[in-house]
Amino acid sequence: MVDTHCHLDLCEPPAAELIERAEAAGVTRLATVGTGPDSIERSLAAAGEHERVVAIVGRHPNFAAGFVDADARLIERAAADPAVRAIGETGLDYYRDGAPRADQRRAFEAQIELAAELSLPLVVHTREAEEDTFALLAALADGITIVLHCFSAPDRLEQCVERGYMCSFAGNVTYPKALELQDAARRVPDELLLVETDSPYLAPQPVRGKRNEPANVRHTAARVAELRGTSYEQLDALVERNAARVFRW
Ligand SMILES: [Zn+2]
Repeated sequence: MVDTHCHLDLCEPPAAELIERAEAAGVTRLATVGTGPDSIERSLAAAGEHERVVAIVGRHPNFAAGFVDADARLIERAAADPAVRAIGETGLDYYRDGAPRADQRRAFEAQIELAAELSLPLVVHTREAEEDTFALLAALADGITIVLHCFSAPDRLEQCVERGYMCSFAGNVTYPKALELQDAARRVPDELLLVETDSPYLAPQPVRGKRNEPANVRHTAARVAELRGTSYEQLDALVERNAARVFRW
């Protein structure tokens, strides 16, 4: 199993401990996300220290206030590290207006451009901003592999499938009331399916309310396997294959 999206630097226990617990749970690879300059440093350090960890580097929309070209150059320099396998997470978040929308958009556009230039996948965060997010991606992200992290647009699943976006399901798909999301997890084509924890957020149902960690991706994967009427082992192999293709490991 793999955890295609976690924030090791925001989790409380040290990365080494989390990785060990993940390994014990059968999680062979983790992608940790650097969301701003300091966080990028920490994600590169974790990937440098731990064989099973790769890095995703970018500027989170909640931290996009004042984003300028120099910020894009910093991400570009970080992405030269061979441990970096994607740009992001980037996108638009109108739920938590942590940064002005114009800044979020500028940061998003710059990171789409970077992903294209560097031939890296783009990890996208979108919350209550699907219309604008999908419009920008349609206009600017042609030819880029898109990963919709913490997939939360079940009403746009058809569009995602048409455009070939990877749909990465997080712990919220396991919540009893998430019926639409569960239906999307059932219907998404094999080749577009990924799973993640988004640790330390969104702990899956069996450990809901606690701080999340990469080892818990197995709970989300188990639920998705159940929804798709497949065995855990088959889902594991599928997700590993998809992640290996997208993140090139
Ligand atoms: Zn995240």
